[in-house]
Amino acid sequence: MSSSDCIFCKIVSGRVPCNKIYEDEQVLAFLDVRPVSDGHTLVVPKAHFEKLHQCPQEVLSSISSCLGKIVQAVVAAAGAAGYNVLCNNGRAAGQLVDHVHFHIIPRNEGDNVFTHWPAYEYESGRADAIAEKICARL
Ligand code: AMP
Ligand code: ZN
Repeated sequence: MSSSDCIFCKIVSGRVPCNKIYEDEQVLAFLDVRPVSDGHTLVVPKAHFEKLHQCPQEVLSSISSCLGKIVQAVVAAAGAAGYNVLCNNGRAAGQLVDHVHFHIIPRNEGDNVFTHWPAYEYESGRADAIAEKICARL
């Protein structure tokens, strides 16, 4: 499955070049062209799915079976002290390319890549209500 105007499908098919990091039958990994840190890598399924929850189980399995290996190599090569693995889904969450992808972002202390994590505390009873609502939809 591919989408003719999708930039990542074009990379998968070789119509657009990339700095390839890893490839198997189902998965491709390549350097992000506008990195937030050196070695910033994208891991994508070769088949076109827009969002994580739309991927069949076997596609998610194929990504998860190589993700750790790719992360290890990226982080070691970058000499990073840590990393984020990030999957943006939907415009509200910052997804700009509508082909599901996992960012691997090498991190170091004080690198200012993500400066704000807007955590707060639930008011009494709210966490229980939200958990119940989610469980009812599983
Ligand atoms: P997101 O905001 O999660 O959809 O991220 C999309 C990412 O794709 C951005 O970090 C872009 O820099 C990256 N990107 C877009 N076009 C290309 C391309 N041709 N090659 C590599 N990375 C790309
Ligand atoms: Zn695509």
